[in-house]
Amino acid sequence: MSATPANMRRLGRLRVLQALSEVGEVSRGDLLQLTGLSRATISSLVADLAREGLVREQSSVASRLGRPPLVVSLVPSAGYAFGLDLGHDHARLILSDLAGTPIWDDTADVDVDSSAEDTVAAAAELVQAALEDTEIERASVLGLGVGIACPVDRRTGMPRADGIMPAWAGTKPAEMLTGRTGLRTLVVNDANACVVAERRYGVARHCDDVVYLRLSAGIGAGVVCDGRMLLGHDGLVGELGHISVDPRGEVCRCGNRGCLETIASPAAIARLLSRGWGRTVSHTELMALVRDGDRGAVRAVEDAGEAVGRTLAMTVMTLNPTLVVVGGELAAAGNVLFDPIHRALRRNSLSDLHGELRVIDSALGDSASARGAAALVLAEAPNLLTIDKV
Ligand SMILES: [Zn+2]
Repeated sequence: MSATPANMRRLGRLRVLQALSEVGEVSRGDLLQLTGLSRATISSLVADLAREGLVREQSSVASRLGRPPLVVSLVPSAGYAFGLDLGHDHARLILSDLAGTPIWDDTADVDVDSSAEDTVAAAAELVQAALEDTEIERASVLGLGVGIACPVDRRTGMPRADGIMPAWAGTKPAEMLTGRTGLRTLVVNDANACVVAERRYGVARHCDDVVYLRLSAGIGAGVVCDGRMLLGHDGLVGELGHISVDPRGEVCRCGNRGCLETIASPAAIARLLSRGWGRTVSHTELMALVRDGDRGAVRAVEDAGEAVGRTLAMTVMTLNPTLVVVGGELAAAGNVLFDPIHRALRRNSLSDLHGELRVIDSALGDSASARGAAALVLAEAPNLLTIDKV
């Protein structure tokens, strides 16, 4: 980009929007520090952005003595982003404002594993319902982020779904969703979306080395190392659910044997109890039994926690995080799950690595994937709100 006045102004605008997007509300003085722009340029850019309705300047509520300082922030209603979580049996859609606050949230039961077409149709209906309920215009929505419960190829955005979500093999979900909704769409693995959400809104704020482990119908991890998301050559970093932890265990849907997912997903634990007790135990009943202290259910979840801990020990020794966030339905088992995870981690990793390591419950629960997917769209907001504006 050549240094014409228009280009310099575009760059300045981008810096101001990026700073506000990352930090929230700041004083003009802090904005000078964060952007490296001059006081006069900041004044002029903030005035322009305020005229367009993108930023506002108001009194900080923090001060009780004297006149409270003015702080600049994005106007939350200046733009929106959808976040869609596609689990194995549901589609959950959240609409976030520019500040990342969820303003609409609903879930459709849909057999995601079996039909990409039906899932995309259900998601498009949710988008339509959200726009009608909130009376927000489609043009105000910056895009649709999707967290999907299977590996996603970072180059093509296509699910690497062989065996895991067979109905999605060869599909292009971003194109399908854009075709049905008219929204710019980006697709990532759900655990990657979750780690983004926990860093932005949850328990991993200010943490640059974090592993998010999702223990749901599928098991996967999102990894941030030195402040950057690790993706790997194909984008498949963190497929911990398909690490073999029992060579003589069940054959997994991925085709390998004894994967962590065949032992520690809520569905696998419910299957184990169903076989042992000769009757069907659902995931919901499993969690209720654990809450009630049922010996068999507690034992099964403890054994799963031990397998999770051993797998995490390998991960911790490979990546040296300071925080592991455990999410997904099984995290609701609380200490029944977390105590054996801690024990197995201590027994199977170097003490230097687990000394300061914290393993904690997700703050955002089931909303993490959708909120993180929306956050990925919002992270691009400064660019989207700068293109063709100057
Ligand atoms: Zn597997």
